[in-house]
Order: sequence, then structure tokens, then C-alpha cells
Amino acid sequence: MNQRRRRIYEGKAKILYEGPEPGTVIVHFKDDATAFNAEKKAVIEGKGVLNNRISEFIFERLNDLGLPTHFMKRLNMREQLVREVEIIPLEVIVRNIAAGSMAKRLGIEEGTALPRSIIEFCYKNDELGDPLIAEEHITAFGWASPQEIDDIMAMTIRINDFMSGMFAAIGIKLVDFKIEFGRQYEGDLVRTVLADEISPDSCRLWDVKTNEKLDKDRFRRDLGGLVEAYQEVARRLGILNENDPAKPAKPTLVKS
Ligand code: UDP
Repeated sequence: MNQRRRRIYEGKAKILYEGPEPGTVIVHFKDDATAFNAEKKAVIEGKGVLNNRISEFIFERLNDLGLPTHFMKRLNMREQLVREVEIIPLEVIVRNIAAGSMAKRLGIEEGTALPRSIIEFCYKNDELGDPLIAEEHITAFGWASPQEIDDIMAMTIRINDFMSGMFAAIGIKLVDFKIEFGRQYEGDLVRTVLADEISPDSCRLWDVKTNEKLDKDRFRRDLGGLVEAYQEVARRLGILNENDPAKPAKPTLVKS
């Protein structure tokens, strides 16, 4: 007998359903693309499948490193099983090269390498357009505790180190990215884990040689070829199999 799944939440690019066990959630990746706080919208066929696969790949590698994440396993082309968490209302942005809002805000030319990686916090609130905030706001308003901020900073640095190396090995510059964290409750304990997704929707990825954009800026800036760019990222990661996207191919090392 078919049973209707209980929908917990529908966001801009994902739907969350109740999972098969208590404390689990199914994440469904949609093909919807939005930008500029959902002022610009489109459906891009195939995007959800690619983001599900790319995010799975990165979260599995991070789990292997001992970095706690919400990810459990991919279920099918569009869905993954994750641990239920309470999302901490912060967008944590890591920048290695100036681009996007920071380049504009500080008048730095896009593409300028930063003297060191910079971590920024935004308050996750669509109505306010996810405003940039300082640590002071986070603790004063109780959005996260000082301990949680420490955990987030330490994990974020590890994630950036790992991902920068992983992308460099396949000829891609990790310009910047956004991550989110959650609280996982286990009885009396609560721990901070990486949640949400990591995909070309949430990263800026440039080809090392040509600086071609392989990320959501293709949509934001009307460059076209978004699915082809995401496929190129998946292909270089060794996870795009033309005939059967579920079966991994071999990684390709790109020599610079
Ligand atoms: N980003 C994101 N979701 C957001 C805002 C930003 O995933 O709601 C990502 C974005 O893809 C980029 C990085 O965070 O990789 C930095 O984005 P920026 O602050 O430059 O904002 P944008 O120029 O994208 O508005």
C-alpha cells in the first residue's frame, strides 16, 4: 500500500520529508534555482540530481575525516537520508578569493586572492535578506553559544582546507562557499554538526586555467550552461557516469 510521506518543510531548492526512523529526515533536491533572495527564479532540469550526488560525495569524504555531519546515505537520484538537526540560524561563508558581495562591498576586484581565508557570518533570515553580522550579534541575541561558535570556526577551517585541496586536485579554484550547521540532540548531549548541502549552488568554483565559472553564478549572471558546468564538476570528481549516474566513474587528476 502506498503511504503519503509527511512533508516537514519546503525550501527554495529542497523539500524535507519525515524519515523512516525517528531522528531521521529525507532531503529531496529540486530542480528549482533561485537567486537574489528568490527575486529571480527558474527550473533547471537535472540540477537537483547533480547537487544530490555532489553533496553526497563531499559529505562522505568529510565524514571519513571524522568531521561530524548530518549525512547518512543517498537513497536515490534526488534524495538522501540525513540525521534530524536543529538548524543554527547562521550562514557561514568562507572566502579564499574576492568575489560576489564581498568584492562589491569592499571595492576589491573579483578574482583577487585574499591574504588569508576569511570567515563571515550572515543571519539566516530571508525576510531580511540574510544580513552580514558579527560574532557579537550571534552571542548577544543567543543565535549560537560561544562554544558553538568555537566548534563552527574549527570545523569550517578543516572543511575549507579539505575542499580547497580536493578541488585543486581536479583543476578547480574554490573561490568561496556557504555552509550551515545544526544541533544534533542525543539524549542529554547536543553536538554541532555540518548540515544542509555543499554543491555548486553554494560554492563559487572557477576553472584553474580559464577562470570559467562552474557554479550558480552561471544562473545569477545569465551565463547559461549551468547543468553542463555542474556536470563538469561531477565528471572531474569522478562521479558522473554518462550511462548510469548512480555508478561512480574513476576520478581524473588534472595537471596544471
Ligand atoms: N551563498 C549561498 N547562499 C546564500 C548566499 C551565498 O550559498 O544565500 C554562497 C554563494 O554561492 C557564494 C558564497 O556563499 O559561494 C558567497 O556569496 P556572496 O556573499 O558573495 O553572495 P552573492 O554574491 O552570492 O549574493
